[in-house]
Amino acid sequence: MSRVPPGMRAVFFDAVGTLLFPDPSAPVVYAAIARQHGLNLCADEVRARFVTAYRREEAADVATAWATSEPRERARWHAIVTETLLGVTDPDSCFRHLFDHFARPTAWKLAPDAAEVVAALHARGLTLGLGSNYDERLWSLLAGFPELDPLKDRVLISAAVGVRKPGAGFFHAVARAAQCDPSEVLFVGDDADNDYTGASAARMPALLLDPDDRFTEVPHRIATLGDLVR
Ligand SMILES: [Mg+2]
Repeated sequence: MSRVPPGMRAVFFDAVGTLLFPDPSAPVVYAAIARQHGLNLCADEVRARFVTAYRREEAADVATAWATSEPRERARWHAIVTETLLGVTDPDSCFRHLFDHFARPTAWKLAPDAAEVVAALHARGLTLGLGSNYDERLWSLLAGFPELDPLKDRVLISAAVGVRKPGAGFFHAVARAAQCDPSEVLFVGDDADNDYTGASAARMPALLLDPDDRFTEVPHRIATLGDLVR
């Protein structure tokens, strides 16, 4: 049975980790590019360092009430990459190399059921959109995925909104873009804090994409995007 609750007029999706996935994975790409810049790390070492650096940047944004901008996003990724790949010969050059890599559609793959789900929800007449904490690189990625065309009229990127998920202001901007009350928009994402808790706090129904069954305490979860339409 479709997991879109009755009364919904719009469905908005998170982008990274929900519809789009780095391919090869981010730790594999980081390790390969680090090697070209004089640092040998395995993907597992990259992953451990990345998680530490990423969490530090998340904590920094709490202190500014989730305010963001393109310069802040670039600074965030610069800090994460520099800390994760400490030891490369030229950190700025290595950062630019990675930043540009992830701006290309060929560095990403679409979730296996994304095309079918987007088409089915579109056919039901629901308003569709994207709500992402990624930055303006999302536009160059989307250009490579025509399957996501039904979402492209309503793409909200936190750096452009000025407030990032999980800030309530971001979800209010989603509702305005959908021209709906927040209670009529379903938000679907893979991040329990930024997507699920953030949307719920803004009175927006939410579903957590939890394919590995990690968040048993979250009441509204789906294992695959396909659960939205089947
Ligand atoms: Mg995500």
